[in-house]
Amino acid sequence: MQLPNNLPDDFWEASSARLAEQRAALWRMVKTQGICATLGIVGGALFVDKKHRICAIPTSPAPFVDTHGHLSCLRTHSASVALARAALAGVRVLVSPADPLDEIPSKFATPAAYVSWIDAQIEDAHKLLELCANEGLMPPTFAGYESAPALLDAVYVVAGVHPYGAAQYMHDKTQSRVLMQAFLTNPRCRGVGEIGIDFGPYNSLDAGVQADALLDQLMLARAYELPVELHVRNDAQHQTKSAHNLVYELLEQRATQTRAQNVAPLRCELHCFTEDAPTMQRFTDKGIYVAFGGASSFARSQKIRQAAAACPEHLILSETDAPYMAPVPVRGRECESAMVGFTAGHLARVREEQTGITKHSTYQALWDNAHRFFALGLA
Ligand SMILES: [Zn+2]
Repeated sequence: MQLPNNLPDDFWEASSARLAEQRAALWRMVKTQGICATLGIVGGALFVDKKHRICAIPTSPAPFVDTHGHLSCLRTHSASVALARAALAGVRVLVSPADPLDEIPSKFATPAAYVSWIDAQIEDAHKLLELCANEGLMPPTFAGYESAPALLDAVYVVAGVHPYGAAQYMHDKTQSRVLMQAFLTNPRCRGVGEIGIDFGPYNSLDAGVQADALLDQLMLARAYELPVELHVRNDAQHQTKSAHNLVYELLEQRATQTRAQNVAPLRCELHCFTEDAPTMQRFTDKGIYVAFGGASSFARSQKIRQAAAACPEHLILSETDAPYMAPVPVRGRECESAMVGFTAGHLARVREEQTGITKHSTYQALWDNAHRFFALGLA
């Protein structure tokens, strides 16, 4: 694989030295502070409030799934600590999005280096969990899910260039595809994402270039038969400029083409859904999945909760979008995958209150749907 040509000669040595130093620092911390302090466990609990009262993770009949948590973007947690904490919180599947243009080569020399870094974090998390087990702290068990893999055997990656990088993607499409393909052919990679259209305040790129980068990556998803996590953000100031309308039209165009070619439609999800039920329903009517994150738990998010209640049972997913938007009751902290149980709990409660669907069904659906979406095989 050809590397981007702006890579300094010593990049790889420098980045492996950085990783080795981070790992050494972690083990120094375990040695001096003990495993519980290193993992932020207080009185046996993963989460406590300012008054040291335990914030209990809701009880679910099924393990939790974080379909979208950026392991490589955490700032205060180390990824291995976040993985160990997620396992202790009952998470059994975690999908971490990688951005081939934003993270390669600024954080990792190559896509393979990104995946090796994930492997190293998993290895460290195994050791952390062994030390926890010595203290009597184990990941929870779920009756009926004995054969489901442990979290550390179910950490996956999706790769995609965010709409912020659309112009860069199109500037050197050949090189962008090379980087994407290096990710998509890695066995840890289970999808394309996050890709999409962003008309929000942090993106000034025009619709055309964003649509081009999105369509090119949808083509890759089709070629590699992978599901797609879509990032779709509207312009809050200009209601007529709707990212959702544009994405809907682009997907419709593609669907028409694929029907003509007699191939199955792409499996897509709207990641971090923060719009209302009618906006969602156009997509769910087409069989598109919808992932809800911490924003669905915020006090003023009534419209998101209505959408969560109205989401068809076979299409609802849970995610954290860590490190962003931690759910209530841990809002304001750096978000991590261990928090996804709180979001699942909010979704289960709101669906029971508003539509009478049992909490049990929602928890079960969040697990089943993620496995179907990423073709993980139902445990
Ligand atoms: Zn994200």
